[in-house]
Amino acid sequence: MSQPSTTPVAFGSHGQRAVLVLIGAVFVLLGGGVLASDHSVPGIAIGAFVVGVGAVAVGRGPIVGVRVDTRGVTHRTLTRTTVIAWCCIRDIAAGSGGGSSPLPTGAPVLTLDDGRTRVLIGMASSTATRRGQSAVEQHRQTLLTQHALHRAACATC
Ligand SMILES: [Zn+2]
Repeated sequence: MSQPSTTPVAFGSHGQRAVLVLIGAVFVLLGGGVLASDHSVPGIAIGAFVVGVGAVAVGRGPIVGVRVDTRGVTHRTLTRTTVIAWCCIRDIAAGSGGGSSPLPTGAPVLTLDDGRTRVLIGMASSTATRRGQSAVEQHRQTLLTQHALHRAACATC
């Protein structure tokens, strides 16, 4: 068990971020190449789309991850930032990270008060290795500890 802490904790894989930025840069270059060489309307549309996708990955790649603080869980993916307040979280489980990787991945799964679930993809680890499996469990324990601290201190929970 990790020590309870009241300071914000950030989770994210440097490797995952580097790969996202790298892929994004390749997309920008590819799209730029299409824009430079193909001046037809579909060429420009495809080039602009590929550059756009690449720019998003370059721009958001470095911040993808999960931040935990006294308010709740801030989950940043390539497309959106979601803040989930501790008050809205009913349960924290370990689940599948979904189809974002060809390798088996695990990630903490939050069950919200309204019954919806949120997979914390930004916290996903490969479960192909034992180290990855224990990383998922450690992340879950950290979330559980922070959640319990909140429940103890919160007047409305
Ligand atoms: Zn609360």
